[in-house]
Amino acid sequence: MTDSNKQEPALVLGAGLMGRLLALSLSQAGHPVRLVDAGAPDGSGAAAWVAAAMLAPLAESAITEPSVVAMGRYALTRWPELIAGLTRPVYFQRNGTLIVWHRQDANEAQRFSGLLAQTGRVLPELPQPQALDGRALGALEPALAQRFHQGLYLPQEGQLDNRQLLQALLDTLAARGVAVEWHTPLTLEQARDLQAAQGGWVLDCRGLGARGDSPETTSSTSTRALRGVRGEVARIHAPDVTLQRPTRLLHPRYPIYIAPKENHVFVIGATEIESDDLSPASVRSTLELLSAAYAVHPGFGEGRILELLTQCRPTLPDNLPAVREVAPRVLQINGLYRHGFMISPALLDAVLEWMQQGRSELAQRLQLRFTPLAVATA
Ligand SMILES: Cc1cc2nc3c(=O)[nH]c(=O)nc-3n(C[C@H](O)[C@H](O)[C@H](O)COP(=O)(O)OP(=O)(O)OC[C@H]3O[C@@H](n4cnc5c(N)ncnc54)[C@H](O)[C@@H]3O)c2cc1C
Repeated sequence: MTDSNKQEPALVLGAGLMGRLLALSLSQAGHPVRLVDAGAPDGSGAAAWVAAAMLAPLAESAITEPSVVAMGRYALTRWPELIAGLTRPVYFQRNGTLIVWHRQDANEAQRFSGLLAQTGRVLPELPQPQALDGRALGALEPALAQRFHQGLYLPQEGQLDNRQLLQALLDTLAARGVAVEWHTPLTLEQARDLQAAQGGWVLDCRGLGARGDSPETTSSTSTRALRGVRGEVARIHAPDVTLQRPTRLLHPRYPIYIAPKENHVFVIGATEIESDDLSPASVRSTLELLSAAYAVHPGFGEGRILELLTQCRPTLPDNLPAVREVAPRVLQINGLYRHGFMISPALLDAVLEWMQQGRSELAQRLQLRFTPLAVATA
């Protein structure tokens, strides 16, 4: 589809990760796009602003379903294409994930390796994890030589810079004449009134903001069923630390990840607390995150805490994403949980395909739940 094709208007609710991605693709496909967001222009109302933005399908397979892993694999090749279409660069790398643990936590490592082996049996096309001894680990990640005596390397996994991506999406939208209307919270009902007056599509990408005003339904994929899963992260500037790739520390109580961005900035996270509480990070969580990071590399001791951030991940009861058609040409895309960056390219392409063809083979292939109108409102 090209720019010159006249398409129907599209109203996109929510300018977080999913909303920005969809608004841009729809604008590029020739739809006049209106993009509204309840929050402020700094984007801090979105989970996407806080995220570490790791693209780690194999590492995440220890806690999620094969469908999410498959969507994560899809994203690893799709992100570079999406980024290439933006008006400014976005840091993206595919140097793999490193998993380390302290000697006393060998049981934890065994358990984790067992979970990855299970994934390998279900999805044999995934790259195999590689066991590292101390020497191999030091060769791969010199900053951790001597500190750990074994590890696991998960090849091909990636990450990107969430904030550069969000800004680049905004800039590219602006270059196309699509400006976000900030401080504009809309309910689904208000959006449908606008749709009744103007026609076209409504794409609801409000994350947790979609809770509560969905049409009455008992379905577990209804946005009524959404809950928040609180996460806390520290952004640290640590010039004494150089890591080539996201590194995860296995620990029975304080597992952490350290995602290195450009210029020695590290995103260290993240807690998982069943709560909608958006209050600042707790002392306990901060102590645990930072002590664990210091144990991985003492260079974090002289680092500077740039920010301590809290956000809640929009999560459906089974922790899996869902796309629902809740009225004619009204799609709700939600439940991205802790995998938004890992799965949004697949969601994006599946939604676009569905809008054009009334079905999505991609969604079927990746086992993405896509509920058409008759089923969604039953
Ligand atoms: C601590 C943390 C770490 C994470 N790390 C990773 C990671 O490493 N890898 C990964 O893949 N994912 C990660 N995630 C998950 C990822 O950030 C989310 O899955 C993703 O941001 C969800 O995208 P979304 O567009 O659905 O929601 P959001 O990004 O939350 O955006 C929703 C937008 O809707 C707006 N809105 C709300 N209500 C309304 C309304 N009534 N009207 C208009 N607009 C409204 C909000 O202001 C917001 O801008 C992490 C999340 C957290 C919190």
